[in-house]
Amino acid sequence: MSETLYAVYGASGFGREVMPLARAQLRSIGVPDSRLVFVDDAAGDGEMLNGQRVMRYETFLAEPATIRYAALAIANDVVREKLADQLRTDAVSPWSLAASNVVVLDDVEVGEGALLCPFVTLTSNIRIGRQFHANIYSYVAHDCVIGDFVTFAPSVKCNGNVRIEDHAYIGTGAVIKQGKPGQPLVIGRGAVVGMGAVVTKDVPAGATVVGNPARIMNKD
Ligand code: UDP
Repeated sequence: MSETLYAVYGASGFGREVMPLARAQLRSIGVPDSRLVFVDDAAGDGEMLNGQRVMRYETFLAEPATIRYAALAIANDVVREKLADQLRTDAVSPWSLAASNVVVLDDVEVGEGALLCPFVTLTSNIRIGRQFHANIYSYVAHDCVIGDFVTFAPSVKCNGNVRIEDHAYIGTGAVIKQGKPGQPLVIGRGAVVGMGAVVTKDVPAGATVVGNPARIMNKD
């Protein structure tokens, strides 16, 4: 019996998109599907979802296994950080997943727990922190630096020389203008870029920007 148990943590929409990547990755190294489960704290133990067992986190920890891996398939960055800390406390290893058609070119470093969905491209000379999510069809171009717990919705176009700080969220179809060498376009910590926004200049930390060209959305 295999001693290793693997989980996709989060059994909602994104988790169900990530599960096939996990299954394919394990099959490629000869691990049977039975060693792969969904973990979800809102689920009842013993349920099945898309062919895999679903269990609560406590049950996952109690299952017979000597080594445990979990991929955090939860889009919310704050929840992701909280759960990443919990996994560390419980000696569950962070697990990175990448679709088989992901393209990674040259000198790319990606931190632990990254989820790279189908058709994602990371080009050259890129640094990415922990628990990065790149949803379908997103790309990161040359010389970008991306922090921890950053989330790309589908089809984000992140052009070259862009710096994205920790916990930023980039919405579906957003386009981020290329920065300059040594003078990157900066998206600040915790900023939110709305879907379809065209970002042409720096976005302050914590701001939400929308539109073309992207402007700060007033909170009222
Ligand atoms: N969840 C969990 N533990 C937590 C927080 C969230 O198991 O501490 C689960 C939650 O029950 C839900 C999923 O994570 O099934 C998050 O799904 P949601 O639809 O909010 O967003 P998604 O990440 O799928 O876009």
